[in-house]
Amino acid sequence: VRQKATHGQTRTYNSRLVLRTVYDQSPISRAEVARATGLTRTSVSDLVGELLESGLVEEGERGPSTGGKAPILLRFISGAQLVVGVDVAETELRGALVDLRGDIRLTRSLPIDANDADATLHRLQELVGQLIADSDRPILGVGIATPGLIDSRSGVVRTSVHLDWRDLPLGALVSERHRLPVHVANDSQAAALAEYTFGGYADSPNLVAVKVGRGIGAGVILDGHLFVGDGAGAGEIGHTTVADNRLACQCGRTGCLETVAGTRAILGASGAADLTELRRRLDAGDGRAVRVVEEAGRALGRVLGGMIGALDVERIALLGPAAELGDRWLEVVRTEAVASALPLLSDRTQVTLGVLSPDIVVLGASALLLTRELGLALAR
Ligand SMILES: [Zn+2]
Repeated sequence: VRQKATHGQTRTYNSRLVLRTVYDQSPISRAEVARATGLTRTSVSDLVGELLESGLVEEGERGPSTGGKAPILLRFISGAQLVVGVDVAETELRGALVDLRGDIRLTRSLPIDANDADATLHRLQELVGQLIADSDRPILGVGIATPGLIDSRSGVVRTSVHLDWRDLPLGALVSERHRLPVHVANDSQAAALAEYTFGGYADSPNLVAVKVGRGIGAGVILDGHLFVGDGAGAGEIGHTTVADNRLACQCGRTGCLETVAGTRAILGASGAADLTELRRRLDAGDGRAVRVVEEAGRALGRVLGGMIGALDVERIALLGPAAELGDRWLEVVRTEAVASALPLLSDRTQVTLGVLSPDIVVLGASALLLTRELGLALAR
């Protein structure tokens, strides 16, 4: 049964609508806001008054006159508040202070040992505290992106095999400590959101962004929105069985995609110390390096072919540490993905390397917080 919205809900909704309009079209006059939102001029003036008080909006220069007195234009203030974004990466916590337009003002990182679940949490609290102390502006909230299955609504990490976190109420713990709103999201999903926002996909409504590191996960954007599925696990492809290789996966099973195509697996099988060395050997045509990377690329490509069949998306972007392997790896993934799906679907599919900024996950976490707290969507 649909309930009638209460006065308070309507007011919050209208206030967000006005804020979003100023955010998207700044500088803009009150009259233009009223036209764009369909609200009366009186309500707009009233709601703008509150936004001026909150400091998110300011009055600027006068706009062109349409007959009478030239109207004062409203501007959104990107630096009115800052967001703390944190990426729980493989070997470190990457944190940043991000303004309300998605510009990074300052970054900080702390190393972590993924085998010590308690210490990782402790470090995370420490990093958030440092970033809050760094800020000379009010903090809107904290956005955290971490690998694993996340109940994004409650902020509970249901399971993160790489960090050994299980049913951890991460959002509540960080929120209690720092007395701020906290939103927690899956790292691949956050990366997909940022890639979609900053990667120049304006003319494509759908995108699958695949983050390949030790773990492998995809983020799915459908019709311009992050799709997380019924249990928030959409895109959790790293533990899809792809091989009968009997190689144990961190999830407790064998033959998962990560045991063939994850960076730890690739380095182990190739004998390279790190991705830079592997890339050098790959470029030099080293037989073992080529064989291992091609096998990894084919396994990933086949799983992506399944996603093309399931979702019919035209754009797939590969992100994360494995992108360092470059075109040779990309070409194998692309060829196999296209060959594994119905040609009519895969003919149009473009598989590319994504925006290679190491801050992509932090930006995605910040973007999610901004959407959930203020109803704003970052746009470039
Ligand atoms: Zn697994």
